[in-house]
Amino acid sequence: MTAPKRPDPARLKRITEAAVSARNDREAGYRARALKLYPWICGRCGREFNRLNLSELTVHHRDHNHDNNPADGSNWELLCLYCHDNEHSRYEDTARYSGDNHGGQGPAPATSRPFADLKALLDGEGLDKDKP
Ligand SMILES: [Zn+2]
Ligand SMILES: [Zn+2]
Repeated sequence: MTAPKRPDPARLKRITEAAVSARNDREAGYRARALKLYPWICGRCGREFNRLNLSELTVHHRDHNHDNNPADGSNWELLCLYCHDNEHSRYEDTARYSGDNHGGQGPAPATSRPFADLKALLDGEGLDKDKP
């Protein structure tokens, strides 16, 4: 029996760097493809881009899954930095707040609970059935 290996920081760093560079390669790949497929215009504000400011035009993934890169570009949308940022903060807000309250700022907002009635119905039915 050997003692459990402690994580080797140098190794971790290598792995992280490899992952980052793989991601950068992949990003460069789909960005180039998206820029070939679509006109260089922000899909939100309509700002037009050219070679000089193209670095401010980014590729957004409609389903927010950066690994989903279909060849027809259907998951990509070209957005300027600002609109892209906006898009993601909206998405994160939705994810963060869905089904939970806002972290103690008063009562939770009224969210739709499609299954609340169903549960009550099932509970009621269960009680009735279980009654001797
Ligand atoms: Zn924009
Ligand atoms: Zn995005």
